[in-house]
Amino acid sequence: MTTPASNAIQIDPITGQKRFATRAARASERIAGKGYSVQTEAALTTLPEHSPGAVFNAEEQAKYRAYKEARRGAADYMAMEGEFARYLDDVYSAPPVPREALADECEIVVVGAGLAGLLLWHKLQRAGFTDVRFCEKGGDVGGTWYWNRYPGIACDVEAYSYLPLLEEMEYIPTMKFASGFEILEYCQRMAEKFGFYERCLFHTTVLETVWDEASGRWTVITDRGDRMRARFVVLANGILTSPKLARIDGMSSFRGDSFHTSRWDYRIDLTGKVVGIIGTGATAVQVIPEIAKIVKELYVFQRTPSSIDVRDQRATTAEEYQTWPHEPGWARARRARFAKISSGRTAIQANDDYLAGKVPDWKERKEHERALSMEELIEKQLDTNFRIMEQVRARVDAIVRDPKTAAALKPYYPWGCKRPTFHDEFLPTFNLPHVHLVDTAPRGVQRINERGVVHDGVEYALDVLIYATGFEWMATSTFNKIRGREGRTLTEKWQTEGTKTFLGLHSAGFPNLFIVSGPQGGGGSFNFTDAIDAHADYIVWLLETMRERGARVVDVRPEPELEYAEHCRQADVATAPLRDCLSYYNGHGEAEPGSLAYYGGNRWHKYRREAQETLAPYLFGDGA
Ligand SMILES: Cc1cc2nc3c(=O)[nH]c(=O)nc-3n(C[C@H](O)[C@H](O)[C@H](O)COP(=O)(O)OP(=O)(O)OC[C@H]3O[C@@H](n4cnc5c(N)ncnc54)[C@H](O)[C@@H]3O)c2cc1C
Repeated sequence: MTTPASNAIQIDPITGQKRFATRAARASERIAGKGYSVQTEAALTTLPEHSPGAVFNAEEQAKYRAYKEARRGAADYMAMEGEFARYLDDVYSAPPVPREALADECEIVVVGAGLAGLLLWHKLQRAGFTDVRFCEKGGDVGGTWYWNRYPGIACDVEAYSYLPLLEEMEYIPTMKFASGFEILEYCQRMAEKFGFYERCLFHTTVLETVWDEASGRWTVITDRGDRMRARFVVLANGILTSPKLARIDGMSSFRGDSFHTSRWDYRIDLTGKVVGIIGTGATAVQVIPEIAKIVKELYVFQRTPSSIDVRDQRATTAEEYQTWPHEPGWARARRARFAKISSGRTAIQANDDYLAGKVPDWKERKEHERALSMEELIEKQLDTNFRIMEQVRARVDAIVRDPKTAAALKPYYPWGCKRPTFHDEFLPTFNLPHVHLVDTAPRGVQRINERGVVHDGVEYALDVLIYATGFEWMATSTFNKIRGREGRTLTEKWQTEGTKTFLGLHSAGFPNLFIVSGPQGGGGSFNFTDAIDAHADYIVWLLETMRERGARVVDVRPEPELEYAEHCRQADVATAPLRDCLSYYNGHGEAEPGSLAYYGGNRWHKYRREAQETLAPYLFGDGA
């Protein structure tokens, strides 16, 4: 049922601010998913030990180099436009709530209602910034967890460290690795508790944001005809929000049903169907065990094997919860401890007692006899990553019975080079007689026709084809639409000068604009909530600082921006051996160093602290 247009926008009699009722969530009995199940079989929940005398690196590295060469330049992805635009339809909501277009003014417009938007709102209102408006493309909150509702979806970071504001919400996640459905519900609860819904314009996509120097304000233009003016704009529009499709000959000819995993179409019942899935990345690894339970035949088209690490899922029991320290701040302390363990795998497999604060900080950390150089540290890390991968491969051999399938499922790059995955049911799925792995290495599926997939001369006729082809990393599709002081867009600036930001949060010439977890945006860890939390704290601090100083406009000076961008470039180059593979982390080998994620570790906090202490990087202005 839609809200009548007249009710969609109302005026709060106390504050005089507009209140919105534009949420369009629709529950469907078909959207009933779950995340990881609990496995107790020891063979599935532990990695095998190394075989005696195992030699690491040489053979696998050589194999991966050959593979990389064979694949170089083959990453050909396409935007979901034209006939493929339907893969982006919002299949989870009722139609947009009708409302009039807005041409008024507010203090802050935030793009995105995912965890970043929600957390930011919580912090902003506590700091007294309430004239805030959110624009969200989807029909409800949740962001990643709104759009991705595929069977089996779950977070790969322990929920006690991933979900923000657990104490304020008085909530304990039901499982160590929460399902996406639980996270979505949690986001909805947060939105209700903190009065977010009335601040948010759902089904509202920001198309363009233009700075007006004379008035010192941004004009935010949306697909609903809005032309809102705002002092500040925050981009909280995520890092993995633009799904992508691999370009495959004949895609448009397929006559069966098809969709992308990030818009799982529950109207299509897979029960008893012949289903094909293209891709074996982090999403597919979660999907495959679930759909294998209901389909008639499942063809898995794999280009590169993922590393399938141990999940070791378990329910949160009341007994376990009672053993945790419960002093105020425990949840943030736990997340901070999680972040301290810098390597992803260590963080995931971390000792629960350490995370819960039951053993002292760093007790288990190995001390080196002397300070190691950056190169030595990278070498050690790389060696560890190859060793873990040896165990990951041994796990495939221990579980998958068919030797040809097992060989194809074994990853041969160092652990962490591509997005690591964790699952205890994925590998056993390939022992089921109706599940078939089709190895399409190194260049991927060759052709699609009206009946299905054709590869190496074999036609695989399908009822349903699922694209698990992932997302563009750090491409929010908005940077090209933000026009700053010189009339050029962020994309134009970065294309001509290279990616340049200060802390990933500002870019000179784009005053009063903040970018959450964008390119060069550090302060995070394997757990994205870390970066979001740090960025939200920083934004609130700067707004408070401006309030105290009576400043209305803030930009950053070119010199500190240049220095910071150079630091990002150097950090990327120095750590590149850890990512010597083709992956979205490095733009499939094409990205300029320092143009995507931040690899400088805790140095981001050093830059941030110095900036906060000296205020030297900022140019404050009175504005109009
Ligand atoms: C399948 C999947 C699994 C993941 N698993 C993990 C994990 O295990 N651990 C982890 O730490 N992270 C994980 N992530 C990363 C995850 O995105 C972050 O953890 C976090 O949810 C990001 O929150 P966000 O609010 O910054 O962005 P998002 O959740 O992406 O929200 C951004 C919102 O902005 C909206 N938006 C974008 N552009 C516009 C526009 N122009 N106008 C209006 N609205 C717009 C989008 O619709 C979206 O709702 C995963 C991501 C995916 C896709």
